Amino acid sequence: MSKTIIVWFRDDLRILDHPALYHAALDGKVIPLYIHNETEHTNSEWYSLQALTAFQQQLRDKGATLVIKHGEPVRIIPEVVQTFEADAVYCHYQYGPGSREQDEQIKENLFVPVRQFHGNVLTEPGTILNKQKQPYKVFTSFWKSLRSLPIAKPFPVPHKVDWYNGKASAIPHAPKSPLNTYWQAGERQALNKWRQFLHDQINHYQEYRDFPGIDATSLLSGHLSHGEISPKLIWHEAKEALEITSMENRFQHTMEESTETFLKQLVWREFAYHQLTFFPQIIDKPLQPKFQAFQWQEPDPLLLDSWKKGLTGYPLVDAGMRELLETGYMHNRVRMVTGSFLVKHLLIHWLDGQAWFSRMLVDHDLANNTMGWQWVAGTGFDSSPFFRIFNPVKQAEKFDPDGTYMRNWLPELRNLPLEYLYHPWEAPEGVLQEAGITLGKDYPLPIVEHQYARERALEAFKQLKKEA
Ligand code: FAD
Repeated sequence: MSKTIIVWFRDDLRILDHPALYHAALDGKVIPLYIHNETEHTNSEWYSLQALTAFQQQLRDKGATLVIKHGEPVRIIPEVVQTFEADAVYCHYQYGPGSREQDEQIKENLFVPVRQFHGNVLTEPGTILNKQKQPYKVFTSFWKSLRSLPIAKPFPVPHKVDWYNGKASAIPHAPKSPLNTYWQAGERQALNKWRQFLHDQINHYQEYRDFPGIDATSLLSGHLSHGEISPKLIWHEAKEALEITSMENRFQHTMEESTETFLKQLVWREFAYHQLTFFPQIIDKPLQPKFQAFQWQEPDPLLLDSWKKGLTGYPLVDAGMRELLETGYMHNRVRMVTGSFLVKHLLIHWLDGQAWFSRMLVDHDLANNTMGWQWVAGTGFDSSPFFRIFNPVKQAEKFDPDGTYMRNWLPELRNLPLEYLYHPWEAPEGVLQEAGITLGKDYPLPIVEHQYARERALEAFKQLKKEA
């Protein structure tokens, strides 16, 4: 007799390479369920409502009805099991602290089995270990180990699904947002974006990925963090594309290197999940315990606010923070520069930066964001050491060499000649006047002087070493 199976969709709103759905379709009738339980109004929450709307429509086109409930999963799951007289619940694992405990609690309270799969990662977090059976702390070793493993092939869209088709559920109202201009959620969008990137851009990724003024990265992070595309699919399609083009292609070497660089970034995501699994304290404690004693400044609300609003007086930092405010996204290089500025120039705790990014990023991912901030602060494993302090002017000269990115996000500086765009405070009065800028009025003077900030940060680090 056919079973009735609830497939609990969470951060995996897709049907291609969805192991839980694939197995449920083989085992019986499928009740697709989504539980809405967010109370925070973040940009990531906004995105997930768009993703949910797109997914509901995608299922509707297949003659299926997504059951949407609101509240605590621990309470909702048993209710839904009872309503549909379900025989089992299938879902993917989640890895953040709290998620595992929640899933265990659900399993304990249910009289039917819960089957879980590793759906949103390349390999099961916690399984890649070094020769001493310890977790890797250095990315390169983790990467080499993962690269030598056979990555499981993605599951196809199930051939035939006996879907539940009933009364449609209402989706929570998502307020109108300017983010609409920048992001279109949905599995189809994700696949199109990925395949276009693979076809047209991946070969240039290595060369240009660090330049925020060039459209050179995949912009897949929102789709990945909401599970609209799976990393396994990306991995295998990238490898297959290399094989197909390997015949007689004189650019083969560049393509291989560039694809490898891209896959390496994807594996940083994997490394983040690996860290979150082994070291769940990473979300709010420094991975290097000595940093517990670091003397952060009491956050000055005015300085923190200037950083959040992109009013620090350092154009690359401000451009990044304004990109984040406007689009809910920031280029990776600029995430590093703005993060470093907060932590080292202002000596504000990385947890304040992590909290702001988690509220603003449409691609917010607990594992990636946490690892990113510990990397920036120099408190994590294999991080940028604390004493390496990014100079925001030099970073801008190197990575925005024609000023495209800064001009785009800082309209008030658009007419400033390039030689002063990196440090407007050094521009002669006449040049500023001609560009229509009064410093301190149209654009701020630096909120902290670079050399002073650098020495202060190094001094704080020295104190830490003395105490350790
Ligand atoms: P691409 O360069 O095209 O890379 C492809 C995919 O690989 C990305 O979509 C992402 O899933 C993964 N990836 C790339 N770089 C990294 C990285 N350094 N660490 C982990 N995964 C990576 N990424 C998030 O997805 N969510 C976050 O909340 C997040 N917070 C960050 C905070 C800080 C302080 C820093 C320094 C980085 C953070 N990142 C985060 C990583 C990175 O900045 C973004 O993944 C990347 O900018 C997304 O753009 P993309 O999709 O075009 O990336």
